Amino acid sequence: MNFQLTSEQCELQETARRFAQKELKVVAEELEREGKPLPKAWLERYAEMGFLGINVAEDLGGMGLGNLEALLVLEEFSKISSAVAFPIFESSVGPVKAIESFAQDELKRRVVPKVCEGKMVIAVSMSEPEAGTALTDLATKAEIKGNKILINGEKRWCSGAGHAEGYVVYCRLSDERGAKGIGAVFVEKDCQGVSFGEQERLLGFRGIPSADIYFDSVEVPLENIIVEAGGFSKLMEAFDLERCGNATMALGQAAGSLDEVLDYVQERKQFGRPIVDFQAVQIKLAEMAMQVDAARLLIHRAAVNSERGHPSIYESSLAKCFANEMAREVTGNAVQLMGGYGYSKDYPMERRLRDSWGWGIAGGTIDIQKVNIASSMVGRRFNQRI
Ligand SMILES: Cc1cc2nc3c(=O)[nH]c(=O)nc-3n(C[C@H](O)[C@H](O)[C@H](O)COP(=O)(O)OP(=O)(O)OC[C@H]3O[C@@H](n4cnc5c(N)ncnc54)[C@H](O)[C@@H]3O)c2cc1C
Repeated sequence: MNFQLTSEQCELQETARRFAQKELKVVAEELEREGKPLPKAWLERYAEMGFLGINVAEDLGGMGLGNLEALLVLEEFSKISSAVAFPIFESSVGPVKAIESFAQDELKRRVVPKVCEGKMVIAVSMSEPEAGTALTDLATKAEIKGNKILINGEKRWCSGAGHAEGYVVYCRLSDERGAKGIGAVFVEKDCQGVSFGEQERLLGFRGIPSADIYFDSVEVPLENIIVEAGGFSKLMEAFDLERCGNATMALGQAAGSLDEVLDYVQERKQFGRPIVDFQAVQIKLAEMAMQVDAARLLIHRAAVNSERGHPSIYESSLAKCFANEMAREVTGNAVQLMGGYGYSKDYPMERRLRDSWGWGIAGGTIDIQKVNIASSMVGRRFNQRI
């Protein structure tokens, strides 16, 4: 067992850190203020630097590195903000990986290189008004008619909705009930019959659009099938990696707040001395560092054990669950340590606290991760239905 990153991994991490710290703080403030997603020009900069599709195969335009490398870069960006990190998330642990892993060659070549070049944004659309945690209740229907697929239904909470050019849509591809009928189809934004609801107004996640998506007799070619009916378990396997990405986004909120609060407590004086001289502050800092480090180790374990494939449900759920809870607590402590300044929108702490809350709902709630963990521990699934 080796807890050291290789020199190449350190170099990649340092490049991402330098770029994010130097260039993206102002961008993050702007996205937060305007509530707008990262502009295309920035996406192309990310692409030039090789930050999109780090763990995607080289012949599809990626860097061909492993999951750990992708998560190292993701953490550096998410320390700045969720919004500036979101394109890295989508291109290395999100919907792009599902397409790379399961789609037919034609679709892979049509979509993945464009994402890695920063010329296309894609999103994942699973949740529905009546299917959140109970995802296998989803009702969006995709009927195969000759060489076309006809899609009808309604989706909810899709991060990227209205902005992304393409969507990995979980849907019913056969009449079989539950998970057995579920597969996934790629749908382009400009297809006839695709429309979007009003942009959601969320507690956090500003700069990451979110909306309902409506599919009204939308037709796409048969080659757009990513996973056929019966392939739900494959989609969930790819989702094990997304879970590590979600955990890293949460980690970034906490690690970014810890870095900044460490400077703050050494500068801010009360009673004529830096507040770091007070033991209560020291204890809080130490507790925050313990939590951040532990989350990072759990995430890295899941990533390293997955090599270039998908992490296990046990290790990825453990990492997500711990990181989600940890981030809410650590960012809350960072707000507290900065007093009134922590509560002010002039500083990024309150944003990190709001975003942290969201990561513990997105990608499956904290409690359902605990159900996954217990289920892996006893080696059987718990039926959630009566
Ligand atoms: C910021 C954000 C971004 C998101 N991005 C996306 C996206 O890009 N694409 C997408 O498809 N979806 C996305 N979602 C949706 C997200 O996946 C769902 O919100 C989540 O799965 C929970 O579903 P729900 O909101 O319907 O809550 P519900 O399923 O109604 O759950 C409500 C509460 O009940 C609890 N609960 C439910 N069932 C059980 C059970 N069996 N055991 C224990 N507790 C249970 C939950 O833990 C939760 O606390 C996003 C959500 C948020 C907040």
